[in-house]
Amino acid sequence: MALARARSVALYGVDGRLVEIEADVGDGVPAMRLVGLPDAALHESKVRVRSAVLNSGWVWPNKRITLALSPATLRKTGSGFDMALACGVLAAEHGELSARLEHTVLIGELALDGRVRPVRGVLPCLLTARAAGVRTVVVPHDTLAEASLVDGVDILGARCLNEVLEWLRGEGELERPGPLVLAPDQVPLELADVVGQHAARTALEVAAAGGHHLLLVGSPGTGKTMLARRLVGLLPALRTEEALQLAAIRSVAGRLSNEGPLSLVPPFVAPHHSSSMASLIGGGSGVAKPGAVSMAHRGVLFVDEAPDWGPHMLDALRTPLEEGEVRISRTDGSVRYPARFQLVMAANPCPCAPAHDRDCICPSLARRRYLGRLSGPLMDRVDLRAELMPLVALTSADVQPGESTEVVRARVLAARAAAVERWAEYGWLSNAEVPGPALRDRFRLPRRVVAPLDSALFRGELTARGADRALRTAWTLADLGGLDRPDTEMVERAIAFKEQRAA
Ligand SMILES: [Zn+2]
Repeated sequence: MALARARSVALYGVDGRLVEIEADVGDGVPAMRLVGLPDAALHESKVRVRSAVLNSGWVWPNKRITLALSPATLRKTGSGFDMALACGVLAAEHGELSARLEHTVLIGELALDGRVRPVRGVLPCLLTARAAGVRTVVVPHDTLAEASLVDGVDILGARCLNEVLEWLRGEGELERPGPLVLAPDQVPLELADVVGQHAARTALEVAAAGGHHLLLVGSPGTGKTMLARRLVGLLPALRTEEALQLAAIRSVAGRLSNEGPLSLVPPFVAPHHSSSMASLIGGGSGVAKPGAVSMAHRGVLFVDEAPDWGPHMLDALRTPLEEGEVRISRTDGSVRYPARFQLVMAANPCPCAPAHDRDCICPSLARRRYLGRLSGPLMDRVDLRAELMPLVALTSADVQPGESTEVVRARVLAARAAAVERWAEYGWLSNAEVPGPALRDRFRLPRRVVAPLDSALFRGELTARGADRALRTAWTLADLGGLDRPDTEMVERAIAFKEQRAA
């Protein structure tokens, strides 16, 4: 036997491709060649694989070794092919390993002493293998908790190369994943802890019920961040496939917890305004890593002090907001990550950001320009805007404790259920997802109901896109109010929520 085949998976973002590795061990000057567009990290496999084989007590064939990875035109990256490469070489030399190897996908990096090391992205690799009809996958033992999320494939965990080789020979057993463990329940942050701020709390509830993007404006210390953090506690739990998508993104980012890797809690991600474009959108050197917009997939992306983010950073949010995913261009193709998040932006009312005991010292032009930094096209996607008041300005009636997360969440879930039922035929899961033409056509409201919108458009106070957004909000107000469609008052309130940016 001089030729053997092994298989592994190449990842491009969260999308994978099955890779076949042909190992040819023949006579000639001893050498080892790796062909089929391997990157630098994969080239280093040659060193690791040889040492791991020797240190596992096997003889390294002192021959001419060629390892060909196909499809040959796809760039392959990373260290996850080590195990398949080592087994391929040894199977070419020792035929008895081949039978099982041909039906198995191997994923894992090898340490020089032969231990199998965990790699990122085991979950999306397994999903790829399952979709390709693979029956058996060997993964690093340390990733078995993550692997337990995938059913329908026989998954085995290996601690060292020798365990895998014995199993390939039909002699040893490999460990299977335990039962799927959900992440421990988290007690959501309590909305009642937010004192006063009635208008902003209402906006938060509407945002949660309709999946709308939200802008919070208020001086430092008025509780914008505190309020934003409480949004995830009002949202419905993730559906299993959403949680699995998010887990795949976290897996590629190397941020998947081993204790209960599947979490049904929507994520809350708050990047800092000094973040790099790569950490916000995704990218970086080597493997393109998911950015904050993808880590927030199916959850909340909180952009604090939004006017201080550069315009190019804010503009970069537009594509994921519109398309629900990002594509990161590389010299050898593009990488895709899901990025469907709910955006919450927060802003001070002006550049001097007066605390409650100071007055604003900004010229009026500077004040206007400050929020004007939030560009029109971005703000057109933000349905709701709420002002937070300094606490000193609150009357005692405002300081009454507000409703709890549990009470508000119950209303949000009822409203969401009403929306899901109404749009079921079209597959939209929240009002924020409904396309503008559908709102103006199939679900057109009577003229007298939308009269306030028509006049706001006529006066130039709303753009056409802004009018669509107000319509969506009006539907959410109807869902929260238990009506089957919005009335005039709801349309008026929706326009007030939408309010113009130059305050
Ligand atoms: Zn000021």
